Amino acid sequence: MTHPFLDLAPLGADRFAAIEDRVARLLSTEQDVVIMQGEALLPLEGAIRAAAGPGTTALNVITGPYGQTFGDWLRDCGATVIDLAVPFHSAVTAGEIRQAFAEHPQIDFVSLVHAEAATGNTNPVAEIGEVVRAHGALFYLDAVASIGAEPVLPDAWGVDLCVIGAQKAMGGPAGVSAVSVSERAWARMAANPKAPRRSYLSLLDWKERWIDGGRRALLHAPAQLEMLALQACVERIETVGPEAVMARHASAAAATRAGAVALGGGLEPYVYEARDAAPVATTLRAPSGLVASELVGRALTADPGVPLAAGGGTLAKEMIRVNHYGAEATPGAVRASLAALGAALSEAGLSVDVEGALRAAEEAWR
Ligand SMILES: *Cc1c(COP(=O)(O)O)cnc(C)c1O
Repeated sequence: MTHPFLDLAPLGADRFAAIEDRVARLLSTEQDVVIMQGEALLPLEGAIRAAAGPGTTALNVITGPYGQTFGDWLRDCGATVIDLAVPFHSAVTAGEIRQAFAEHPQIDFVSLVHAEAATGNTNPVAEIGEVVRAHGALFYLDAVASIGAEPVLPDAWGVDLCVIGAQKAMGGPAGVSAVSVSERAWARMAANPKAPRRSYLSLLDWKERWIDGGRRALLHAPAQLEMLALQACVERIETVGPEAVMARHASAAAATRAGAVALGGGLEPYVYEARDAAPVATTLRAPSGLVASELVGRALTADPGVPLAAGGGTLAKEMIRVNHYGAEATPGAVRASLAALGAALSEAGLSVDVEGALRAAEEAWR
């Protein structure tokens, strides 16, 4: 008996290249797209180590925990790093990026996270891209939490290294990821003696041994199941329509935000302005005096199926995350999350209006 996950025909170079082309279409990009055989941290780290070195001056924008990690990698590569930290309840502006260039004209690399699932904000990449391009810096973007939930357009925005993963709004697997690479970025890597080579982290290996060879021979056996799942999730987005998938995420964010405000009990949107709030996930501030992780624990006891989590690290005290992405970007998941939060707040002795929250969510979804 054949098993659906086992006994599969090998995944050959043709199929692998076709999946890369499909991902390139999803990104509307003419750049090379490399699918890497690991979670998104693999191309995120690989791209920084390939493109940055002791001669690099990097502007590292921190709007959440990933920006902090990128700064550490950049410093580890020997780059001079200028951190631009923005409060997690807001987004960075193109004006702040312009100001950083004015103060440090030597900046030749900019790292930015598009949307942060961990903090619930999203940054205006199109406007920022114009500023970065005007100064000729290389533009590195983490679009893991935005792809599928909002437009991601590396070519139109002048992004040189755009990293995506399928496990968030694409509703796909976590074990493979992709990066689009501009000609400028390839040239920067080729000129970097410290860029990883003959390494699992190496993008240049894929350039030299896969792309330049006409994509005829894979470097090693691919993660077959993950590749098939990636193809399936891109196909599903194509079938449903990327606009419909993005609209579902935008509605889930609007409904969660409106519902949380109407719920009361002292719950507040963590990201002050709705325009800075990411479609992929909504973060909420726990009422003062309550610990977010305990509240989430109570909510999950009330309904174990809801996509709720506490913030990571020190944010666990104050931040509640509603991860309404992928299969959870539905009115049902939003309703259940609000009801479970309502139950938890009420148990903590606060007065809440669950009916009002559900009505507000329904209104905002349309
Ligand atoms: C989710 C996410 C990643 C990938 O990290 P995981 O925690 O392994 O899913 C990378 N960058 C951003 C901005 C993300 O939101």
